[in-house]
Amino acid sequence: MSSSLEKLVIIGSGPAGWSAATYAARAQLQPLVYEGAITEANRMAGTLPLGQLSLTSEVENYAGFPHGDLGGFLESALPQERRMVMPPHEGKGVTGPELMELMRQQAANFGTRIVTDDILKVDFSSRPFKLYPAEGGLVEAACVIVATGASANWLGLPSEERFKNRGVSACAVCDGALPRFRNRPIVVIGGGDSAVEEATYLSKFASTVHLVHRRDQLRASKIMAQRALDNPKITIHFNSGLAEVLGNDANGVTGVRLASTLDPAREETVDAAGVFLAIGHTPNTGFLDGQLDLTPKKYIVWTKHFRTATSVDGVFAAGDVADDYYRQAISAAGTGCMSALDAERWLAEHVGH
Ligand code: NAP
Repeated sequence: MSSSLEKLVIIGSGPAGWSAATYAARAQLQPLVYEGAITEANRMAGTLPLGQLSLTSEVENYAGFPHGDLGGFLESALPQERRMVMPPHEGKGVTGPELMELMRQQAANFGTRIVTDDILKVDFSSRPFKLYPAEGGLVEAACVIVATGASANWLGLPSEERFKNRGVSACAVCDGALPRFRNRPIVVIGGGDSAVEEATYLSKFASTVHLVHRRDQLRASKIMAQRALDNPKITIHFNSGLAEVLGNDANGVTGVRLASTLDPAREETVDAAGVFLAIGHTPNTGFLDGQLDLTPKKYIVWTKHFRTATSVDGVFAAGDVADDYYRQAISAAGTGCMSALDAERWLAEHVGH
């Protein structure tokens, strides 16, 4: 088995991973980033490279990016081969995919090495730490930053599973523009910022968006919630849950059966060409196989106050994989920076660099 010894490996390629890489590269730690593999399985699980932000539309609240036409800036900042894989810039402020490409490029500009593969397994029981990529081989690392983020939850209904990819999706930005949804009614499940963002985005394509939420008020921030309430194409079904996705083999999704959360005997059927789930996220910690302390919700535990240290000395965690509270792109980038500074100090103390 081929192996190489790295000073610092960063697993994950969202705002936390790239911010950690930029800081680490500038500190001359020669970081190696495993950004994730481009596979259908990762697409379905929402774990493609560049993280959750690459699955969103316009980003209005990332500091330093006010609404404006970034066309020329993107042209000059990104190499052509990366611009070609992105949707064209619409001149309406930075989008999630654009912001992520810029972060990736910034890390690359300082010499970060990037591998487009998953780390499937780790062994943190002895040093150097061992990492096993999906493509095979072994990577050994003196220090590791885990920044694998979180991915979208599903309800787990058999009918949801049956119609995945045929009208059921957890990513409006990835799938919303498909012809099957054009000028047709669409259902979005959830009441948080993601649900409102998806409903607002889908209202550009759909004839009507039915936003279905289990309680009597939205969890989304006030500005986002008001946007949904004011949108004439969005109808909100409060105190309501998805009981079944309806459809057939020929057409995929044709509707949903909704049940009242106050009285489950009260049901309604709504015609729909698609169902988008936006019911929160689960941290991507399965590959750690219990080797770092996790919270009951499976988030990595930061073991020191205001530090990114984990239960294994020399392994640090950044971003949503360790944060079930703020979960913002900018806070993930902030903890990514912190993790690189923590790693730099740890390496100086333990490895002498
Ligand atoms: P979230 O805030 O955790 O909201 C999840 C929503 O799904 C909640 O309304 C929850 O209902 C509902 N839900 C959870 N499990 C459910 C189930 N089994 N059945 C039915 N409904 C269920 O998650 P999020 O909206 O993905 O947001 C995650 C974080 O990202 C938040 O911090 C958010 O602010 C941030 N975010 C920000 C933006 C932005 O600012 N532009 C955009 C997207 C996300 P309850 O309300 O009853 O718990």
